[in-house]
Amino acid sequence: MAGSLTVVSGFSGAGKGTIMKALLQRYDSYVLSISCTTRPRRDYEEDGREYFFITQEEFDRKVANDELLEHAGYVNHSYGTPRAFVEDQIAQGKDVLLEIEVQGAAIVKEKCPDAIMIFVVPPSADVLRERLIGRGTDSADAIRNRLWQASREINEIEKYDALVINDDLDAAVEMVHMTIQTEKNAPSRQTAFLRSLRRDLDDLNRRFKNF
Ligand code: 5GP
Repeated sequence: MAGSLTVVSGFSGAGKGTIMKALLQRYDSYVLSISCTTRPRRDYEEDGREYFFITQEEFDRKVANDELLEHAGYVNHSYGTPRAFVEDQIAQGKDVLLEIEVQGAAIVKEKCPDAIMIFVVPPSADVLRERLIGRGTDSADAIRNRLWQASREINEIEKYDALVINDDLDAAVEMVHMTIQTEKNAPSRQTAFLRSLRRDLDDLNRRFKNF
C-alpha cells in the first residue's frame, strides 16, 4: 500500500523539529523530507541534514524546472520541498513528514488533498518567547520577525486536521503519531482500498445468491 503524506506546521520555536526527530527515532515507518533553503546555515546545522543550503539562483532554477512540490518565502528567505524524494518515499509505503510553514502547507493540500495537516503550538505566548530567546541562534530582529509570523500564522490553523499543544514532548510526539495513524485510515483517504473491497463483496454476494 502507498504511504501517507503529513504536513507539520507551527510557530518557529514551537518544537516541531524536536517532535519530528523523536518520531523518526521511535517509529520506522516515518521519513522526513529535507527542504532546500536560501537561509544561512546555523552553527549546529549540516548541509544535507537539516536543509540543503543553496543560493537564490539554484533555488530559482529548481522552481523553473518544477523540482519543488511547493515553495514559499519566510522572513526574507526561500524554502522549498524537493518533489522527487516525497513521491519516491510515498510509493515505497513510507509515511512522509513535511515540516513546512503555512503558505507552503496550503499549496501541498491543494496538490495532494489527502495530505494530513497537523499544527504544533507552544502552551503559551510566553513559553514561545522564552524558547526563541533560549535557543540563542537568532538575532533580536529575527526573533521579532518570528513572533510576528506566529501572530499571522495563527489565522491559518483552522485549515488543519489537528492541533498539537507541545507542553510535554513525549505526549506531543504520541499525539502526532496517533493523529497520523488515525487520519491515514479515514475512509476518504482509503477510497482505492474501499472500492476493491466493495467490488469483491459484490462478487461474493453474486456467487452466494443461489447457495
Ligand atoms: P527555520 O529557518 O526556522 O529553519 O524555518 C523557518 C520556517 O520555514 C519554519 O516554519 C519551517 O517549518 C519552514 N520551512 C522549512 N522548510 C520548508 C519548506 O520546504 N517549505 C516551506 N514552505 N516552509 C519550510
